Amino acid sequence: MHPTVPHGQIAHYLGEDGAKDVDAIEAWQQVCETWNTWFLRRPTGKPGDAVDKQWGQAVTEQKIFHIEDEQRAVDYAMGLIARSWGHFGDFQDNMRARQSEEKVQAVSAPIELKCPNCGAPIPVDAAGMFKCRYCNTTLKL
Ligand SMILES: [Zn+2]
Repeated sequence: MHPTVPHGQIAHYLGEDGAKDVDAIEAWQQVCETWNTWFLRRPTGKPGDAVDKQWGQAVTEQKIFHIEDEQRAVDYAMGLIARSWGHFGDFQDNMRARQSEEKVQAVSAPIELKCPNCGAPIPVDAAGMFKCRYCNTTLKL
């Protein structure tokens, strides 16, 4: 992302007179205070590269999701939403009506989070502040 949103673009798209330049990272951080915000990256993105580092500052590294199968991009997004709402099983059942069990499992695997500290599985219905029961690390999901 561009580090700064120029005032001219803000004025053009939002029609605000007197708009000032906005720091893009700070703007995303503010969005994250209210919304469960994720950055979904295309399969061409390399984990840990400069783009990941920049978005990690904006939405935290835990909220960067590397899509493995671009044809299923919407399913990954819906899966993240379903997990956040505690209805991951419903998401999988819905996807089974359209895709093979192998594809459902392949899309589900990266959505099923692991603790970044110890690698333990995190329940798919975990949301908000979550404490890993194995290492006691607190995560913001
Ligand atoms: Zn842990």
